[in-house]
Amino acid sequence: MIQNAQKFSHSILQECIKPGDCVIDATMGNGNDTIFLSTLVQNEGKVFAFDVQKAAIIRTTEKIQTLETKDNIQLICDSHANLSTYVQEPIQAAIFNLGYLPGSDKSIITTPDSTIHAIESIMQLLTVGGRIVLVCYWGHEGGDTELSQLLEFLPTLEQHEWTVLQYQFMNQQNQPPICFVIERKR
Ligand code: SAH
Repeated sequence: MIQNAQKFSHSILQECIKPGDCVIDATMGNGNDTIFLSTLVQNEGKVFAFDVQKAAIIRTTEKIQTLETKDNIQLICDSHANLSTYVQEPIQAAIFNLGYLPGSDKSIITTPDSTIHAIESIMQLLTVGGRIVLVCYWGHEGGDTELSQLLEFLPTLEQHEWTVLQYQFMNQQNQPPICFVIERKR
């Protein structure tokens, strides 16, 4: 069967990440992507994981306790808009899960300005062949504004430098998430 947006995001990351790479989870949430990235880059790699909510840091800290590669993870309780304070090295991949933290305060959502600012910061660090993956949940209040700003921003990226993909189901109800991929060509 065709992969849903979340599964597709992992396939697209897996294709471009190898042991030793530095990668970013820009929206840690429950920590599932952080763990996925940690196992891909292995002990010689590095994962920077961001979230503004203490709850996300606590949940992820608990989840990674028994993970063999946990020492390659740095959990950062700050906005991804400030990521250039923490990350200066070349980055092979990054993931964003846009929306609110499931099972938590639905009013704390990712916002277009900080999301786009963070994307631009990562684009400056991204290696050739590197990918930024956005899984955009947009069914919640404020989600449609973020989606529409991304739909304005992403097509403006210079074609000779970036490949930009939109992966979306056309006939599903309840606003399923949309996956976007930005890949550096040169
Ligand atoms: N809706 C997705 C999960 C989104 S989680 C799903 O169902 O799987 C989004 C996470 O981004 C939340 O944990 C939230 O706290 C975090 N977040 C919101 N604004 C942020 C910011 N500026 N920087 C980093 N994380 C942020």
